Amino acid sequence: HISSLSRYKSQPTKTRDGKSVTLLANAELPEDVTTISSAGAQGIGLYRTEFLYMNRLSPPEEEEQLSAYRDVVEGMNNQPVTIRTFDLGADKTVDGGRNLNQTVVTNPALGMRAIRLCLSQPAMFRTQLRAILRASAFGKIKIMFPMISTMNELLQAKNLLEQCKQELDKEHLEYDHHIEVGAMIEIPASAVCAEIFAQQVDFLSIGTNDLIQYTLAIDRIDDHVNYLYDPLHPAVLRLIYMTLQAGKLHNVDVSMCGEMAGDPRYTRLLLAMGLENFSMHPNAILEVKQVINETNLNELPVNTLDIMNTSDPLELDLLLEKINGPSH
Ligand code: PEP
Ligand code: MG
Repeated sequence: HISSLSRYKSQPTKTRDGKSVTLLANAELPEDVTTISSAGAQGIGLYRTEFLYMNRLSPPEEEEQLSAYRDVVEGMNNQPVTIRTFDLGADKTVDGGRNLNQTVVTNPALGMRAIRLCLSQPAMFRTQLRAILRASAFGKIKIMFPMISTMNELLQAKNLLEQCKQELDKEHLEYDHHIEVGAMIEIPASAVCAEIFAQQVDFLSIGTNDLIQYTLAIDRIDDHVNYLYDPLHPAVLRLIYMTLQAGKLHNVDVSMCGEMAGDPRYTRLLLAMGLENFSMHPNAILEVKQVINETNLNELPVNTLDIMNTSDPLELDLLLEKINGPSH
């Protein structure tokens, strides 16, 4: 199975009717870069930076971060790397359950995490922004903010980035002056308002792991409610669709970097909904590519709107089977 997939490595990612698709990889640790460069990815669509902050008492300094980010872009041979600013809090705690504020809260997923934490710790956030900017002098880097829920957060983050650029200018330190900035869409409110956010960014990236958690009110790490975690819930599909439409309207790239993007059962559906950029665990790339390269979008036996309008799980399974064909 694996060896039959390897023939896809050298092929471009394109549907039978000629639509090009970009397949990117998710990275969590520096050593992932080796796996990724041999996996057939066209770049890194999500570089999670939390590892830099974990299992230590003080946050990493600018030089340490610069060297980590520089290693990644250089290791990717100039393919684009999207670095996400620190998404700590909730399921991603520092040092064995401790969060940065040292407080215990009832609903950490709804609390001080991700961009909220970044903005509440401006010194720490600026250190990371400076390091990412400086690394952009060594390859193609994009910057992405996690869990944006309000326009104010996005503007504040962009403003801090501008300030860091000005500092670097003064210090005569190099960076990519055209670095692209994106927001993650992982909160239902942001998907509903994606059209507004799209006007303030270069790209959007859908984080389905959190989007599903928040849409369906299901703790993503609680096994007791795991059975309710459903990427095909019509509400989830509609939010994804709204985000894709917002990107089209404003000519802004939309990617998906949650687990859903790497599951070949959903590839055809997502393609039909209009997704063109998938970022996933490197091991999933060739399988997803196979599905894409075997798809003819003009001849899909199922209308995507039917799938988005179906709430009956059995009927949904049938539609998915139909769209995927007998082999999947
Ligand atoms: C997501 O929420 O889908 C995502 C990609 O981010 P993380 O899993 O790191 O929260
Ligand atoms: Mg997330």
